[in-house]
Amino acid sequence: MSKPMKYVYAFAEGGRDMAALLGGKGAGLAEMTRIGLPVPPGFTVTTDACKVYLKTGEEPPELAVEAAQALAGLEQAMGRTLGAPDDPLLVSVRSGARFSMPGMMETILDIGLNDESVAGIAKATGQERFAWDSYRRLVQMFGHTVMGVDGDLFEEALTAHKTRRAVADDHLLDAGELAELTEEFKAIIRKETGEDFPQDPAEQLSRAIRAVFDSWNTERARVYRQREHISEDLGTAVNVQAMVFGNLGADSGTGVAFTRDPATGERGVYGDYLPDAQGEDVVAGVRDALPLIELKKLNGPVYGELVDHLRTLEDHYRDLCDVEFTVERGKLWILQTRVGKRTAEAAFRIAHDLREEGTVSEDEALVRVSGAELTRLMFPRFRTTSDDVPLAHGVPASPGAAVGAVVFDSAEAVRRAAAGEQVVLVRRETTPDDLPGMIAAQAVLTSRGGKTSHAAVVARGMGKVCVCGAEALAVDTVARRFTTETGTVVNEGDVVSVDGTAGTVHLGELPLTASEVGRALETAAAAGPLTEAVLGALAHADSVRRLQVRANADTPEDAVRARALGAQGIGLCRTEHMFLGERRALVEAMILAREDTAREEALAALLPLQREDFTKILEAMDGLPVTIRLLDPPLHEFLPDRMELAVRLAEAAEPDPRDRELLAAVERMHEQNPMLGLRGVRLGLAVPGLMAMQVRAVAEAATARLRAGGDPKAEIMIPLVGTVEELRLARTEAERVLAEVAAETGTELDCPIGTMIELPRAALTAGKIAGTADFFSFGTNDLTQTTWGLSRDDAEASFFPLYLEKGVFEVSPFETIDQEGVGRLVEIAVEAGRAVNPRLQTGVCGEHGGDPDSIHFFHRAGLDYVSCSPFRIPAARLEAGRATLTETTRTSDTR
Ligand code: ADP
Ligand code: MG
Ligand code: MG
Repeated sequence: MSKPMKYVYAFAEGGRDMAALLGGKGAGLAEMTRIGLPVPPGFTVTTDACKVYLKTGEEPPELAVEAAQALAGLEQAMGRTLGAPDDPLLVSVRSGARFSMPGMMETILDIGLNDESVAGIAKATGQERFAWDSYRRLVQMFGHTVMGVDGDLFEEALTAHKTRRAVADDHLLDAGELAELTEEFKAIIRKETGEDFPQDPAEQLSRAIRAVFDSWNTERARVYRQREHISEDLGTAVNVQAMVFGNLGADSGTGVAFTRDPATGERGVYGDYLPDAQGEDVVAGVRDALPLIELKKLNGPVYGELVDHLRTLEDHYRDLCDVEFTVERGKLWILQTRVGKRTAEAAFRIAHDLREEGTVSEDEALVRVSGAELTRLMFPRFRTTSDDVPLAHGVPASPGAAVGAVVFDSAEAVRRAAAGEQVVLVRRETTPDDLPGMIAAQAVLTSRGGKTSHAAVVARGMGKVCVCGAEALAVDTVARRFTTETGTVVNEGDVVSVDGTAGTVHLGELPLTASEVGRALETAAAAGPLTEAVLGALAHADSVRRLQVRANADTPEDAVRARALGAQGIGLCRTEHMFLGERRALVEAMILAREDTAREEALAALLPLQREDFTKILEAMDGLPVTIRLLDPPLHEFLPDRMELAVRLAEAAEPDPRDRELLAAVERMHEQNPMLGLRGVRLGLAVPGLMAMQVRAVAEAATARLRAGGDPKAEIMIPLVGTVEELRLARTEAERVLAEVAAETGTELDCPIGTMIELPRAALTAGKIAGTADFFSFGTNDLTQTTWGLSRDDAEASFFPLYLEKGVFEVSPFETIDQEGVGRLVEIAVEAGRAVNPRLQTGVCGEHGGDPDSIHFFHRAGLDYVSCSPFRIPAARLEAGRATLTETTRTSDTR
């Protein structure tokens, strides 16, 4: 028998490494308790208990007993009893899953208040108004969250009271009114549920715990998890914690603080402080908070103590931390900490600074940044001039440049985005219900709230552009427009540009320019602290990585750019683009040729053009390998569209006989399923002279480069091989041409010949194929299509959204390699291929080669290189470096 499950842990029993069991919040509270920070005491109900509840609909039977014991312990420690008539203990019941899901689940404050204890707390604090305000908040929150009453009913009652008193703020309602309001709230509950608000504190507590479990499955929590790839099975822990009060007057308050700026990474203490308020008020952005530094003036010693604790936490976690804190009558309490979310810019700068400060090693600093963050920094920025007067300034809460049509609610954002429109979601402030709209939008703009408002925190977490607290904007969500200080009216559908770096909003679409990071990467020269941090991380990644990074590049321009971005060669040079444009006529001629001579003429005309293409690319990549793939797509792709031709013929007074020929050819070559038809190596074997022409062009180009004193390293790649026989035939032909050219020029070339592995059969017979190949290049796009038996374009347009929603895919297999299926084929092929041919080079040239998760897999699979589009090369270099470290040192990413 294993040890009996333990479902409840006092804060003093837990620690930071127990986040899976206690949730992130619970683990943080336990850790802070352990290292002696002032945390109100409490206990945590584990995620295991939640999992049992979610599975069976019942709490595990032991939970009630353990929770009662823990509560008794808490009461003893506090010297007070939950909900006792005089001087009662009150608690909060707080959700907290393994991964932070800000605002997605429920927290209920002031549990323990009832008709009697409300008087007790009034007496103990000497503040009657405060007591009734807390009670009415509890009834409201409990009624809504636990008992399922429509929250608007409470809001309406509250508004009615404010209207009657002609006051704008809840703050101005007195104790008597709040007591009345509480009675009304209770009546609403009775009317809506047929049940009374429970007066028994123990019942309040157990029902609140269950409500937190239930909140794991709210719509917004599910949406958030799907977007953040958080598993549905984790469940949430529940923290029960003694209440402390930030709303007891001017010497009280609540706030959020960061050990560094989460937007820029700058050193220093940042945050917001709201005097005389409870925690929820800051995050909700309902009142505008003060910058944290104001606390120094209000209460110097408390500020000093807070700064000390922040230092302690940062040293302890060795990373940026954020905290929630509350000051109750001059006494500081810390209510939450975690390694804080940050922007991409801040991630690089903080990792770099922590390394310089000696807090983390170079390896660890590298593990703390990611390719996705680097990519975000490479996106272009707005190019503004002094003439561009912004509509408004706000807080630059999450950087980047976004353009879109203004919308005023989540549903409209979703609707328009689904129709392909880019939108900017504009709200006074956001709530968790706006989440779908925030996901759909390019940017979020609010007129209220600071760097720690819901909009800011969530947008930053998603890497989405956000400007918040643009107070000069009057946002009217009903009339669907906002008005600027100078009277400019912007209506729904109008296009604006949101600059999350500068914190500005502009009317219309601003022009874009390369980002500072993009420029620095291409020139390899740092221009400030951010670019220095980025280049530093990349240099370290380059020094540790085993995987080489090549580019998918078809033109000399792309090759030059890729090389500047750090490509170590070209892993895929497609040749089909070289057959388009003016050359199409020659390709048509080749296809239509009835006799060998006509075809040879067409091919002969293509040869010098193709040679020229290769010469330039080899020059751009001098000294580095260039893998040239022979023609791959079905030939009809080079012919005009069948319908178009038919119409042209039907409408012409005197039909062009060439059109008639073309139409006949198109009809002859029509395939039911071209993806599985005459293409790849099949084409090379079926169309006489085509492959020979391409190989000759490669050989002559390489020879020309050699003669010019260059160092060409061309490689020939045969696509879509399914059996070694195909490769053998193709290879024989290629070698014949290479020998021919060598004889003509007197120059022997060293030109490796390899194959793509993009059919399951090729992967499964890789041992045979490897005997004839110098290299394998996994074409993971086609390999995914052929392994899954689906055509990407068709599937993505039809059932992919459904599959993602139903969880059949967690992520599209075209974005991140399907490790179990497609990845398994890669592993099999690498192993079998190397066993036969130890010198076999292996790489990936599908777009997966630029995807962070896939790169980690390819590292583990032991490939020699990944190849991706030029823009993704820096991120690939970074991830290849990180993969080396996480595989060997298993440093865990704490975020
Ligand atoms: P979230 O995960 O949405 O931040 P929290 O559980 O942290 O939810 O709680 C919401 C707010 O209530 C926070 O501002 C928090 O600081 C405050 N709060 C929670 N527990 C207490 C407590 N025991 N005393 C005072 N304030 C609390
Ligand atoms: Mg919190
Ligand atoms: Mg392919």
